[in-house]
Amino acid sequence: MSSVESAKQIDPAAGDGGNIRLTLPDGSVRDVPSGTTGRAVAESIGPRLAKDALAVRLAGEVLDLSRPLRKSGPFEVVTPKHPDALELYRHSTAHLCANAVKRLFPGVKIGIGPAIENGFYYDFDPGRPFTPEDLERIEAEMKRIVAEDNAVVRREMSKAEAVKIFEAQNDPLKVEIVAGIPEGSLSCYEQKDFIDLCRGPHVPSTGKLGVFKLTHAAGAYWKGDEKNPMLQRIYGAVFLTQKELDEHLARLEAAKARDHRKLGKELHLFTFHPWAPASPFFLPKGATVYNLLIDWIRDLYVKYGYQEVITPQIFDVELFKTSGHYQNYHDNMYFTTIDEREFGVKPMNCPGHFLMYGSQAFSYRDLPVRYADFGRLHRYEKSGVTQGLTRVRTFAQDDSHIFCSIDQMAAEMSLFLDFIREVYGTFGFTEVKVGLGTRPEKYMGAVENWDKAEKALSDAFGKRAESLPGWSYFVNAGDGAFYGPKLDFQVTDAIGRAWQLGTLQVDFSNPDQFDLHYTAEDGTKKRPVVLHRAILGSLERFLGILIEHTGGDFPFWLAPEQARVVPVSEKFNEYGEEILGRVREAGLRASSDQRNEKLGAKIRNGELDKVPALLIVGDKEQAAGTVSLRVRHGGEFKDQNVEELLRMMRGADATRSLQWHGAADSRSSPSKKIS
Ligand SMILES: [Zn+2]
Ligand SMILES: [Zn+2]
Repeated sequence: MSSVESAKQIDPAAGDGGNIRLTLPDGSVRDVPSGTTGRAVAESIGPRLAKDALAVRLAGEVLDLSRPLRKSGPFEVVTPKHPDALELYRHSTAHLCANAVKRLFPGVKIGIGPAIENGFYYDFDPGRPFTPEDLERIEAEMKRIVAEDNAVVRREMSKAEAVKIFEAQNDPLKVEIVAGIPEGSLSCYEQKDFIDLCRGPHVPSTGKLGVFKLTHAAGAYWKGDEKNPMLQRIYGAVFLTQKELDEHLARLEAAKARDHRKLGKELHLFTFHPWAPASPFFLPKGATVYNLLIDWIRDLYVKYGYQEVITPQIFDVELFKTSGHYQNYHDNMYFTTIDEREFGVKPMNCPGHFLMYGSQAFSYRDLPVRYADFGRLHRYEKSGVTQGLTRVRTFAQDDSHIFCSIDQMAAEMSLFLDFIREVYGTFGFTEVKVGLGTRPEKYMGAVENWDKAEKALSDAFGKRAESLPGWSYFVNAGDGAFYGPKLDFQVTDAIGRAWQLGTLQVDFSNPDQFDLHYTAEDGTKKRPVVLHRAILGSLERFLGILIEHTGGDFPFWLAPEQARVVPVSEKFNEYGEEILGRVREAGLRASSDQRNEKLGAKIRNGELDKVPALLIVGDKEQAAGTVSLRVRHGGEFKDQNVEELLRMMRGADATRSLQWHGAADSRSSPSKKIS
């Protein structure tokens, strides 16, 4: 039993004698004196509930069990089954981790430790990186503190008091944070020998914790700013059950093998250089995949009635003042001054497209206008957050802006859904979550237009629900941007991870800012609506996701090297050259391995490079004018007719079949036989 159990249950400070009214989930109400603690209320409902209680939720706010309740409203006890429990566990486990680190490494300074997706992290300044052995010791100490079942006690205090505490324990980072908090709202959480600055809430005692695993440590700049000292960030996974934790850890293992940074190096796809931070260099193989993606989207632009445009890279800052980027996005932009004139490098294509639209005269008959742009974009991201291809400073998008009338919105959304379904289906992304972000509290434009747009967005999906198995739709109430509602598209990859890819954003604001119009049927000038939309999003990021989704086994049509001719010895190099010529003539990307190596070594090399098709040529093949085919993950097929084989490969290429990419996506079986 933890010591908080005996803590006083009614806060004498409440002292106003008034009652508050709590409405329980079953609709019943309880009137209790203001200042009664959540724990006391839970106990009055039932001892079992009080035993399971982690916290309470009152009027939308999660509070510690020991907090005196001072207002009326909907009231729930947060037990391990409650949706709020996981966040409590995750954040409280972060404190647990810091507690253990402080015990084992007394000189270590502590930073911050928030709950994140799947767990938490905590930043430390240990003077040296943590080793895997350190993490094991820390984890063991955390388990010990759980077994101690120390009460977690909230202490509200003045800034001076907090500064004194953190100075005394030599925690300058904490002192720095205290300085930024307004007086009167400061609280700390204490668990036996550890105290941390925190708003809370927390579980009532360390004994409530336990389902966790420290996964890794990595360098992280204090406050994500590279000008600040480098700290060591410990990541931990926290779940409700051991089963969920184990499943998560298995996914992490699988993800490690697919890490696009690792595969990008092994497969010679891309590289980085410190002189161009967070800006990828695509090596020939990576550039091939990148360009194939663009070529394909370009084909689809023709099919779906888009027009590609090319717009400038650098604009007078007046443009960004009009678009609002200068005021709101300044810290993420690159600027330069030439001829005493200030220019900005575009972080998005939209403003340029607005200028372009505005430079032409459009009538209602011309609408919708769909401008597509693979323009290069630059955004300054702090080095603390950049990562491989998934967060970079230079990238391009399959970006497009649709200018249409309000009445055309519904048809545009439908068309967009067809487009996005075709793209995601091609990659085998069959599980797609579509979120509709609706009107937030602060918004601009007429409510009537918002309603129309939201209806168009949800109808577009509703009408197609049957033809979209695996797709699900939900509403994120109030999650729209201030300038319009939006749809977000999230796909699930081959190992069950969710990635946000596509988006469709309605914009009522910019047409006003840029004074855009079209001539309506009655001759009057009207404002178009702008739809910002992307399907893959950043191509750099998408490529990173695709590498992890496929484990580097790209589908045949995207494989940088689709076939490799492998002569069994140098004697057959000449015949190999002849075959290579025919493969290339068929429009397929191929090479031949003419090194003086053993056949086994050449085949292993082809496997390592994840080449979908190895065409082996030796005595028998040369005599018969055939090749032996070795399909990655697909077995061997002797003596293949070359013409027939090329026809099959061209077919897999043209249809963008998922078949020939091997076993990376376990849901689609590799082809057993080619002919
Ligand atoms: Zn905390
Ligand atoms: Zn845009």
